[in-house]
Amino acid sequence: EKGEDVIATLARSFNGMADSLQSQIRELADLSEVQQRFVSDVSHELRTPLTTIRLAGDVLYDQRASFPPATGRTAELLHTQVERFELLLSDLLEISRYDAGSVKLESEPTNLVYLAEDAIDSLRSLAESKGSDLQLVAPGGYLNADVDPRRIRRVLHNLIGNAIEHGEGKPVVVSVDSDAKAVALAVRDYGLGMSQAEVAHVFDRFWRADPSRQRTIGGTGLGLAISREDASVHNGWLQVWSSPGEGSCFRLTLPRLAGAVLESSPIPLPP
Ligand code: ADP
Repeated sequence: EKGEDVIATLARSFNGMADSLQSQIRELADLSEVQQRFVSDVSHELRTPLTTIRLAGDVLYDQRASFPPATGRTAELLHTQVERFELLLSDLLEISRYDAGSVKLESEPTNLVYLAEDAIDSLRSLAESKGSDLQLVAPGGYLNADVDPRRIRRVLHNLIGNAIEHGEGKPVVVSVDSDAKAVALAVRDYGLGMSQAEVAHVFDRFWRADPSRQRTIGGTGLGLAISREDASVHNGWLQVWSSPGEGSCFRLTLPRLAGAVLESSPIPLPP
């Protein structure tokens, strides 16, 4: 009987604990919903005034040659900062769409080799300005998978852009690979690389290895956070391998068929 008492007491206190845990979790969920809504509302609210500033700034920017040099430089500064602001807002909106679970994939049969070529082409002038050579390693120019082309192209653009920015002028190799169920897109650079402590944060929102580089290198610090969401909404993975001084390799693995779940672990990262 004593044993039963003890069990009954334990059960009661366990119930109490479970209740209070549950309500704490509910509160936390509410809080993050409020936060999500806040980010989304603020981003939407900022769009209209930003558009007005952009239009006014464009007028000044187009006439900058007719201004005294200092005023011309101010017009240029305004132009780049407005661009950064627009980028930040669109990234914030995208993150809040993911948080709200309102992202709808528009998957279609897509040639990933073409997507990779397209992303490389759009970054060629950036690569040239940094002196780095963009290379593509792809099987026979053709590899189809059911993906949302806009999202996967964005991931590639992000990864290749990062590889160029942190690549110290060394080559950047984009490769397209596959097995029976999965396709893999890898972006390898031979630049700065990251320590394991840095790698642990690389997908965190707003995280950047060296905040002092922030002003010289554009971007919002949200690129990889969004890319990882893009991978996971496809039931895929975005993995990273990196080593200081040896460079980095980011690898996106996706199921060939829309909605398929990959059972095996992703194709391992190359050294
Ligand atoms: P952003 O590029 O806007 O800073 P990202 O989310 O794309 O934001 O990247 C976050 C940070 O991860 C970068 O600021 C950089 O410190 C680090 N990083 C990303 N890609 C690389 C890379 N290929 N080599 C070294 N560091 C990288």
